[in-house]
Amino acid sequence: MKINCWILVLIPMICVLGAWAQTKPSANLIITNAKVWTVDKAHPTAEAVAVLGDRIVAVGSKAEVDAWRSPQTTVIDAGGKLLLPGFNDSHVHFVSGGLQLDSLQLNDVTSPAEFARRVGERAKGASKGEWITGGDWDETKWNPAQLPTKELIDPVTPETPVFLSRYDGHMALANSVVLHLAGITAKTPDPPGGTLVRDAQGNPTGALKDAAMDYVYKVIPPLSHERIVKAVRRALAHAASLGVTSVQNMNPDYADIAVYAELWERGELTTRIYAAPLITQVDDQVKIGVRHAFGDSFLRIGALKGYADGSLGSRTAYFFDGFDDQPSNHGLLSDEMQPLSLMRNRMMKADQAGLQLCTHAIGDQAISIILDLYGEVVKAHGDADRRFRIEHAQHMAAKDFDRFAQLHVIASMQPYHAIDDGRWAEARIGHDRASRTYAFRTFLNHGVRLAFGTDWDVAPLNPMLTVYAAVTRATLDGKNPNGWFPEQKLTVAETVEAYTMGSAYAEFQENEKGSITPGKLADLVLLSEDIFSIAPTKIRDAKVVKTIVGGKIVWDAAKQ
Ligand SMILES: [Zn+2]
Repeated sequence: MKINCWILVLIPMICVLGAWAQTKPSANLIITNAKVWTVDKAHPTAEAVAVLGDRIVAVGSKAEVDAWRSPQTTVIDAGGKLLLPGFNDSHVHFVSGGLQLDSLQLNDVTSPAEFARRVGERAKGASKGEWITGGDWDETKWNPAQLPTKELIDPVTPETPVFLSRYDGHMALANSVVLHLAGITAKTPDPPGGTLVRDAQGNPTGALKDAAMDYVYKVIPPLSHERIVKAVRRALAHAASLGVTSVQNMNPDYADIAVYAELWERGELTTRIYAAPLITQVDDQVKIGVRHAFGDSFLRIGALKGYADGSLGSRTAYFFDGFDDQPSNHGLLSDEMQPLSLMRNRMMKADQAGLQLCTHAIGDQAISIILDLYGEVVKAHGDADRRFRIEHAQHMAAKDFDRFAQLHVIASMQPYHAIDDGRWAEARIGHDRASRTYAFRTFLNHGVRLAFGTDWDVAPLNPMLTVYAAVTRATLDGKNPNGWFPEQKLTVAETVEAYTMGSAYAEFQENEKGSITPGKLADLVLLSEDIFSIAPTKIRDAKVVKTIVGGKIVWDAAKQ
């Protein structure tokens, strides 16, 4: 009886398999006549790629891939252009980025008068009670470089709350309306991990550093759901236009993740997202029981983002030695690190639960302390595939490169910061420390894995600027055309690898994406220029011709 049943089931199955063997499924998409750089060491180059569903099924010569063609196949003739795996930005602030696309932009302002004029213009168009945020101002572009004060903008914003971030996110300027709402007066103390900039009389100037900004965050009305949806849609479109097919989203709010999930359900996500909320919320993810990289190919959680210190620009990066131009100032440990046991306990909890740790550390001492803590975690819980990350890993102590490698810590770095901060970093930290700043080559020499990204909206999301930055290290002021600490430059191939496979590894997805390999997700970008052969200075001008995510064209320059 049993045997007969099996035969009844098996015969049709064999028939189906037989038919399948005769009519191999055809590709839904073929990109041919391309210069394919696969980032797959086994087969670095090819001419064509075939996609079936959302996966790559064939990579090879035109003839090999043509075998997957049928009348139903969409064929893209790449015209000999360069095809790469889609870029995976390992560190973005996705919703802030989307909001920034339609918020007040002050990054290109070069004088206090221009600053005040633009804020005033925006205030005129604002509805009653509406907050003016955004900014990304950079006083180092002013002559002389001086921090903006509330006095500069109060006359043009008598009733409008204004809170404008410095471009690095570690300082912001509040006007008097906001200081009043936040209850900040001359008597308000500096909080742990933060500073109120004060005038000669001790009155706050409106510039708030790091944790001091929390006084204001407490009174900013939360973003509405619609506003976040709008911001995410703008961010998705922006990413698609730049060939960014995956992002690793640092410190999203839960409301942001809820919007990602909603757009995921509607099939609207065109960029894959790995979300790492703040480690201060570790208990939530521990309670749910999710582990690192939990989710599907479009939306994952299971990582936590912590902060060890501030930034070099705001002089809050935490160093062993004082700043060269402010010897008694060593920077600041973040409030999450005061006391250290607070961070240690959270890390232990997270690791016990199988969650991934991504910790912002910029100054050499901050990095060193995080390596200590990571070492303690390993000691307490034993060896495991954890993929600890240090975000930025900007200024390394010479003694710590080996430890970085031994603990298998991933350096999640943003090359654009190097050509930006490189304009003035040496004046603040001196030649010796500057020589270990954004030390891409030294990391590789020590066997440390790199994962590249931008820190958008702190820096532009455009991967071409990142590749340009890593390959040239030519500072934005034009003063280092041959590279600022040129011995740390990378090749185009090394940079692209860190930005694709490196980032994929940093989110436990190296078997799913990061290279153009059969079986992997069909996330691809076709570029206007062959960035491997053009002059490095021209890389920043290369454009995206097509972006493909999961086999679907999500950006087509020809249709814009
Ligand atoms: Zn960041």
